[in-house]
Amino acid sequence: ATPTAVMVGTGVGARNGILIKGGEPLELLHKIQCIVFDKTGTLTEGKPSVTRLVVFTSGDEREAITETLCLIGGAEASSEHPIAHAITEFAKNYLKYDSFPTVKNFEVIPGMGIKCRTTSIANCVKNCQQNEELENFIEVVNCDRQSSTLIDVSASDSVQRLDGVHQLLIGNRALMNQEKVLISKTVDVIVEHAQLSGDTVVMVACDGEVVCVAAVADKVKRESKSVVTCLKRMGIHVAMLTGDNRNSALAVAQRIGIDTVFSEVLPSHKVAKVKTLREQFGLVAMVGDGINDSPALAHSDVGIAVGAGTDVAVEAADVVLIKDNLFDVLTALDLSRKTVQRIK
Ligand code: ADP
Ligand code: MG
Repeated sequence: ATPTAVMVGTGVGARNGILIKGGEPLELLHKIQCIVFDKTGTLTEGKPSVTRLVVFTSGDEREAITETLCLIGGAEASSEHPIAHAITEFAKNYLKYDSFPTVKNFEVIPGMGIKCRTTSIANCVKNCQQNEELENFIEVVNCDRQSSTLIDVSASDSVQRLDGVHQLLIGNRALMNQEKVLISKTVDVIVEHAQLSGDTVVMVACDGEVVCVAAVADKVKRESKSVVTCLKRMGIHVAMLTGDNRNSALAVAQRIGIDTVFSEVLPSHKVAKVKTLREQFGLVAMVGDGINDSPALAHSDVGIAVGAGTDVAVEAADVVLIKDNLFDVLTALDLSRKTVQRIK
């Protein structure tokens, strides 16, 4: 490429919020044979909210809801994950309170969830309120029979059940399996059902017992489907890559029109999936927001970061789409084609 053509191309890009780091990505873009999109925050808005909360208890319903929200609101307040924000927000809104109890030994298990030890929730329970308007989103399942052997319900005052120091896990099935938490048939059915509609579902285990299931939903970006349709018409293979569960991933992919779906991929395995696609289709571009996918962005032939993104994403990517609009993927391809035509 002549330096002039590259300068013109990158200049036009920059003026339109498309930062292309030099001549190589600019020339490679129009040859791309496969584009793999990250799901959360890339094809979806990345701002999920709680759509359903199921609380298992054998005690008083309101108390159980309150305690559970004090507990998980506090634990997720330590996490940066969008799912964590959704849960903490919901807890704040329901309790009309935000001084959650702190947690100890907080640990993030990438691609799976969080692990911590709780402290007393007594203060939170005492000072919060109950927002009845949110009760439409909450369901209480009486677990009297099937789990009374697992939860010690000897105390009729259920605050004593969740108050104090407990081992808390919030995350997906992989986390529950890894930590040897048994998932009852009831929990299983609730989880599966919510996932089939595309929601992301996490389970909350307290001392090895599932006490709550939370479903969160993230809106698909308005332009996702049109962009994917255009790419497919151009003969480009389109795939989706996510750490999310298979059912949820498939539901979202179907809505957008993506047939190749890699789900339940741990952050550390995303690079390997990009390599698989390269072997199968040729030149691969990865589009992501940088949360968990920076290495994959760096290892694809052209890494495209969307949104102002994280600093690491901007660092790892060859192309940065400032406006967080996926139509700019098409604009970037077009710019590349035009630049190369000008060179020839
Ligand atoms: P993605 O590829 O969609 O960005 P991640 O790798 O970040 O997904 O997370 C994969 C899964 O791990 C999530 O769908 C969720 O089930 C679980 N998870 C991760 N972080 C948390 C958290 N803070 N709280 C609950 N669940 C979490
Ligand atoms: Mg993501």
